[in-house]
Amino acid sequence: MTVVYVNGEFLPKEEAKVSVFDHGFLYGDGVFEGIRAYAGRIFRLEEHIDRLYDSAKAIWLDIPISKKEMMEVCAETCRRNQLKDAYIRLVVSRGVGDLGLDPRNCKKTTIVCIADQIALYPEEFYKKGLKAATAATRKNYGEVLPPQVKTCNYLPNIMAKIESVVAGAQECFCMSREGYLTEGSGDNVFLVKKGVVKTPHPATGILIGVTRNAIIELAKKLGYPVEETFLTRYDVYTADEAFVTGTAAEMVAVVEVDGRKIGDGKPGPVTEKLREEFRKLVLSEGYPIYK
Ligand SMILES: *Cc1c(COP(=O)(O)O)cnc(C)c1O
Repeated sequence: MTVVYVNGEFLPKEEAKVSVFDHGFLYGDGVFEGIRAYAGRIFRLEEHIDRLYDSAKAIWLDIPISKKEMMEVCAETCRRNQLKDAYIRLVVSRGVGDLGLDPRNCKKTTIVCIADQIALYPEEFYKKGLKAATAATRKNYGEVLPPQVKTCNYLPNIMAKIESVVAGAQECFCMSREGYLTEGSGDNVFLVKKGVVKTPHPATGILIGVTRNAIIELAKKLGYPVEETFLTRYDVYTADEAFVTGTAAEMVAVVEVDGRKIGDGKPGPVTEKLREEFRKLVLSEGYPIYK
């Protein structure tokens, strides 16, 4: 039986509920994390928790428990569900208020933790790669909402995702207002050109992914030059390889963008090598669920 953590209690899935007056529901007023556990250890948990608290701080949301306690909430949710490999969804919302926007009327922060098993795409996409489409939706409007904040306000991402669905692709590439590549719907983007691993510079307006950081680390360790830079659609179309990274998606090759084949239209050697190393990395470290 699946149990879910809701504000200090572990409840059966069917009873795990949040009020319709929660501003997370009414306004998308909240922040979240997607975290993975591999073979009994939670990958880079501290980095996720630090980001969660930074996201909360940026939106003037007080998290009433310590980071240490929050880490244990994640581990305990896995334990209660007897999971060793898990996708953990941690949501912190403004809490129950009235119908007005004023966050001061929300007296108690809502904390929810769900641990489950998911694969974002069917197995064949991990083998063959994805098709992506450039989205017209600009979602990284930093002057409104800092793109580093992992907010529950995901509608721009969903609008971009809808564009890829309509285009018959599995993923979207979002551009900044200036026309630079930023990220996918909920993941970061990498290109490989002549052995150089390239990814959009944080200043283009991206969420700094934990997976992105790990891939940059691995690429450097393997001796590939890594550039955090400004990339255009031209760079995407003419890349030798492309892939996306995120906790939910992990690492998936992108083999076609806007009808252009990337490289030879198959996951490339650098992508494959990094994926192999990423597999090893996630199995080699992490916060232990079972002591
Ligand atoms: C979560 C997320 C990512 C990927 O971050 P990870 O820490 O690797 O999971 C990228 N972009 C957006 C918009 C996200 O919400």
